[in-house]
Amino acid sequence: MSATEPLTATRCPVCGQKLVGKLGTNQFFCWTCFVEFHRFRDSFRVFAIDQEGGLKAVEGSWDTEKTDTKG
Ligand SMILES: [Zn+2]
Repeated sequence: MSATEPLTATRCPVCGQKLVGKLGTNQFFCWTCFVEFHRFRDSFRVFAIDQEGGLKAVEGSWDTEKTDTKG
């Protein structure tokens, strides 16, 4: 049994990488930029994790299909 969570096909809405771990049904964590994001129907809510372990919502429009245009 691997200690690593299976990666999903979901891309990080922030960096666009697929190195994403699954936290819950629609909750994911990006190992590239260390943000947590929650998936809704066609968009994400992104949360930065502060030094105290709390979640801070990141303002922005995180569309599931338009991550490639950012940057
Ligand atoms: Zn990322």
